[in-house]
Amino acid sequence: MKLAARVSRIAPSPTLAMAAKAKAMAAQGLDVIDFSAGEPDFDTPAPVKAAAEEAIRAGFTKYTPSSGIDELRGAIAEKLQAELGVHYDKSQVLVSCGAKHSLYNLAEAFLEAGDEIIIPIPYWVSYSDQALLNDATPILLDTTEEQGYAVHAAPLERLITPRTKAIIVNSPCNPTGAAYDRATLEEIASVAVRHDLLVISDEIYEKILYDGAVHVSIASLGPEIAARTVIINGVSKAYAMTGWRIGYAAGPKELITAMANIQSQSTSNPCSIAQKAAVAALRLGEPFTIKMVEEFSRRRTTIVNGLNKIPGVSCRMPQGAFYAFPNIKGVLGKQGPSGMLETPNDVAQYLLNEAQIATVPGEPFGSREHLRLSYATGMTSILRGLERLEQAFAKLT
Ligand SMILES: *Cc1c(COP(=O)(O)O)cnc(C)c1O
Repeated sequence: MKLAARVSRIAPSPTLAMAAKAKAMAAQGLDVIDFSAGEPDFDTPAPVKAAAEEAIRAGFTKYTPSSGIDELRGAIAEKLQAELGVHYDKSQVLVSCGAKHSLYNLAEAFLEAGDEIIIPIPYWVSYSDQALLNDATPILLDTTEEQGYAVHAAPLERLITPRTKAIIVNSPCNPTGAAYDRATLEEIASVAVRHDLLVISDEIYEKILYDGAVHVSIASLGPEIAARTVIINGVSKAYAMTGWRIGYAAGPKELITAMANIQSQSTSNPCSIAQKAAVAALRLGEPFTIKMVEEFSRRRTTIVNGLNKIPGVSCRMPQGAFYAFPNIKGVLGKQGPSGMLETPNDVAQYLLNEAQIATVPGEPFGSREHLRLSYATGMTSILRGLERLEQAFAKLT
């Protein structure tokens, strides 16, 4: 069979693959400690479930407008006005089947062969694959761990060519947990305005910030940058709703309309029941999120301090999201039972096979020195996992 060429450019999501392997091992009765999950381990808040049950009872089970119900688009526009101080008309908001779907609609509506999109390293895995699926070229921007993975104007500007169309901003970041401060966002904004770039601002972790940090959206820096920014967000992470599949995009009307047309010809509306649940999450979910983030905060300190005590490992304190991103350079080159551990992928395979610890290696995020460990898992697992990790690394020669 001759498949479309674009398929050969991409791989299945490696984070989902690792999580599936860990689940399969656990199903065989193995005691797997799973740090691979990219989702909160909390249950969806009760008022959200109640809204969904009510929607089912009321027969709200048919097609809705393809771009999402008015009530939800209105709640999103209100939220953006109240929290970011940026005005969006409902026609500038598109509700999709998850933030990933919003991003995909965007890639399809905005990118074509020859276009370049700048993606800072380390990056969430789907940005580059979605660009590749739409015949565009991801251009990777190096950042340094020492500088907290910040993006600066000069190196960014050096990558810009006449074909550059967009830059990705993901703050707080998956996998690093880095959150950009206002000064960094201002640098990016000035470059975007000067070179007529679209900013794709993935703000899915905006609510998961620590030590009193406050989220800054690049769209809130002024009308000029707001006019060229698409905000991507959703309810998956803030309200423990990954399975409900509701995300959204807000941005320039012409672009949102194009994305909405693509959606109307591909998936049609996101699930009607989940849309009602998302309205409840946006209106009633805040107390839940605050409690969840308090628990994540305790786990963050425990896992990062624990990792830093393990020889060969060093880990920055993430400012947001729920991932530790330890540097494991000190372990690379050591000898395991089936050969030398040369790459993070070798280390992740070793940890899974020899110690039943599931992590995600750095390679799919663009790193050759890190592992990603999600701490959206119980404190007991974190403590047991740290102990096992230390023992597993101590066995290497
Ligand atoms: C989880 C995640 C998404 C996708 O979220 P969904 O709304 O569940 O599709 C998008 N971006 C980043 C950085 C994520 O970690």
